Amino acid sequence: MIDFHCHLDLYSDPHAVAEECRQRGVYVLSVTTTPSAWHGTLKLARQGDRIRSALGLHPQIAHERRGELPLFDSLLTETRYVGEIGLDGSPELRPHWNAQVAVFEHILKACTAAGGRIMSIHSRRAAGEVLDRLEAHPGAGTPILHWFSGGVRELDRAVALGCWFSVGPAMLKGERGRKLAARMPADRLLTETDGPFAEIGGQSLRPWEVTGAVSTLANVWSVPAEEANKRVKANLKALGRVQ
Ligand code: MN
Repeated sequence: MIDFHCHLDLYSDPHAVAEECRQRGVYVLSVTTTPSAWHGTLKLARQGDRIRSALGLHPQIAHERRGELPLFDSLLTETRYVGEIGLDGSPELRPHWNAQVAVFEHILKACTAAGGRIMSIHSRRAAGEVLDRLEAHPGAGTPILHWFSGGVRELDRAVALGCWFSVGPAMLKGERGRKLAARMPADRLLTETDGPFAEIGGQSLRPWEVTGAVSTLANVWSVPAEEANKRVKANLKALGRVQ
């Protein structure tokens, strides 16, 4: 099981969720929303387990936390993974658009200077703008667009730019999400939950519930669930070799 975008630190009992991930052998990319959450989140992982921590600054709070960019820079050497980062074009966040862009650009430049990172990227209502920045910073690393919800043209552009994707049960619940997933390259696709933010039936998704995404992908690809599982695992391995 692979949950490549999960906010482990934001569950009501993060240590219990992390422990259950260990017991079930779930691979987790534990993303953060602020650099100041880094050390606390890092403690949820143990030596030898399959929890990896990502350093992030979420676009929805970029305007409040841009003062943490120097901290971001100083922590960047500690990890191969960056996220959650990106842009959010929702109307309520438009007043903070310039701050979001400044933070995202700063991070892409920092990742470039550091030799590239694996990046989990938010692009809600801002897919084109995110892709413009990724195109301008090709050395920033390997972008993984999490819960992509842009249009088909933007998706094709993202594929041409070399983006990867992570998709989860909440995204795949709808016809639109499944159509996008079907169009994504099967060898650049990972699963995620985006828990505890993402919910199904009013309940926060937990990392091991990512299996719902694997079974939907199996349908989308017209293969048995076991084969879909194998493909996603092979993709994670290949991603590890990208940089
Ligand atoms: Mn998220």
